[in-house]
Amino acid sequence: MSGRISIADIDRSWRALGVRLCICLLAILAWPESADSAEHGPPRRILLLHSFGREFRPWGEYARSIKAALERQSAYALEIQEHTLLTARFNNPGPEAPFVDYLRSLYQVSPPDIVMSIGAPAARFVQKYRGQLFPGTPLVMTAIEQRLVNREELTDNDTVISVQNDFVVVFGSILKVMPDTQRIAVVIGASPLERFWLEELKRELKPMEGRVAFDWYADLSFEDILKRASALPPHTVLFWGLMSVDAAGVAHDGDLALRSLHAVANAPIFSYQEAFFGRDTIGGPMLSIADSSARTVDAVTRILGGEKPGHIRFEPLRYAPPKYDWREMQRWGIGESSLPRGSEILFREPGVWERYRWQLALTAALILVQAALIGGLLRERRQRRLAEVESRQRLAELAHVNRYSAVGELTTSIAHELNQPLGSILTNTETAELMLKGASPNLDEIREILADIRRDDQRASEVIRRLRSVLRKTPFELRDIELNGTVQEVMGFVADVAAGRGVTLSFYAPAGLGLHVRGDPVQLQQVVLNLILNALDAMSETSAGKREVIVLTRRAGQFAEIRVGDTGPGIATGDLETVFNPFFTTKPEGMGMGLAIVRTIVEAHRGTISAENQPLGGALFTVRLPIAG
Ligand code: ADP
Repeated sequence: MSGRISIADIDRSWRALGVRLCICLLAILAWPESADSAEHGPPRRILLLHSFGREFRPWGEYARSIKAALERQSAYALEIQEHTLLTARFNNPGPEAPFVDYLRSLYQVSPPDIVMSIGAPAARFVQKYRGQLFPGTPLVMTAIEQRLVNREELTDNDTVISVQNDFVVVFGSILKVMPDTQRIAVVIGASPLERFWLEELKRELKPMEGRVAFDWYADLSFEDILKRASALPPHTVLFWGLMSVDAAGVAHDGDLALRSLHAVANAPIFSYQEAFFGRDTIGGPMLSIADSSARTVDAVTRILGGEKPGHIRFEPLRYAPPKYDWREMQRWGIGESSLPRGSEILFREPGVWERYRWQLALTAALILVQAALIGGLLRERRQRRLAEVESRQRLAELAHVNRYSAVGELTTSIAHELNQPLGSILTNTETAELMLKGASPNLDEIREILADIRRDDQRASEVIRRLRSVLRKTPFELRDIELNGTVQEVMGFVADVAAGRGVTLSFYAPAGLGLHVRGDPVQLQQVVLNLILNALDAMSETSAGKREVIVLTRRAGQFAEIRVGDTGPGIATGDLETVFNPFFTTKPEGMGMGLAIVRTIVEAHRGTISAENQPLGGALFTVRLPIAG
């Protein structure tokens, strides 16, 4: 069988793929319509009755959450109609009849599929008038505290989704979170519902009265409450109950009233309603809107699905695990450690690290790289320093050896220098002895002879001192020195050698304050000594003309110069640079290290050395050293 694919094969497979895609597309287009027609019938109507108003917290939040969940989850098309029982706010509510008539006119002909009451006043109203309004309609009572449920009038057609308040738990948790609390001011309004809760609060909290004092703000106008809240004594906290109508009879929007209180209060505000959480209250154990909402949606769905409302039963919902607002915790200095175990902290503001993570990471990386670089450079500098010290040490040792060899050359001259004073001392001593043997020795003459002996002894000592100072083995160290004196000392050392070789050695220094450089005197003397010895060596190669070595010091700008010139044959032009290389020598016995050491010493003093030939013959070496200070 052939493995080749023909054009016809490709064409066939494309066509098959096209057909398959068309079938899929048709199926997709057809699917939603069939599903819709199966699940959605005519829209189900839900009458939602509010107790205080659609926007009134906490019930407004319950209603909003339930509606959103219903619309999201319901298998049926829904028509939610909302009405508000405003009369619940007033202490002396007017007649309810007109509102009942209004509802009857709306629903008598076509009653809703479900009536849902939000809060206790709405539940009571429906229970009272359902017979006249919509006798056969199922009732879902939600967002109602269990002790406010009118159980006597419950029917088989009702489902209750209730909550359970436990003030001992709420206030206990306040005291745990803020253990220094001495006083709790309870903010609550004056509507019948609020009056009911005021009594319940007082009753339930009675056992706590020994631990903390309570202020009940139920008899104050909200204006006065705000005044009090702005000047509370230390260790006081506020408890937000409810504020629908204050003692002065002014109706309030629950949300706005709390916000005003939060704006002026000098103490933290606690509440057990999740609906108030998220801006103004600290938090704690609270009634969860989501939990109530989920149960309500479940009940509505089951009732719409045909289940008997009376069969759908729930235990009252208790507080959800505690939640706290991080911003309020910061404001009132509440530490995480004082929160009950299992607490959740919300609204945590991102710290500097979270906010500028990349910038900080980049900066840290840059700093690290820079630190590594600086570290590396410091290390290198240290190693260079060590190497410098080591090389100076070597130089000092090498120079020392070189000095030994130079001094070796001077042995005859040194011996001569020592012999002279020693010989004079001997002669003078013998003369003095002879004079003392005489009958009347001339004491004045003897005194003169002794003075001569002393002078000769000092001369011999000076020769030895100089020798020792040149041969001294010292570590390389820079200090402030006077150059003329340092060079002068070398002159004294080699004067006799020069004289012995028939060479005139002269030294010229500028008159005045002297030349100050930073240097090692022994090493600089060695530089001059080596240069003079080389000059003397050069002179021995020539017999013609004047045999002269001139040493000169002078100031040239910021430098001190030492010049050593001779009248020898000079240096071959090509060798002017190479003479400083190690082992370069033109002498049969030479080592070729003298000038190399000289250059190393000069460079260690941050100076330079150069060689040239003088116009009238002879070599000239110039050492330049920076002037000190
Ligand atoms: P060495 O004296 O052992 O040869 P140096 O390094 O002191 O070693 O000198 C290197 C060479 O430089 C000498 O061999 C010589 O050729 C040359 N030189 C140094 N000084 C002079 C000078 N004053 N005149 C001529 N040549 C010189």
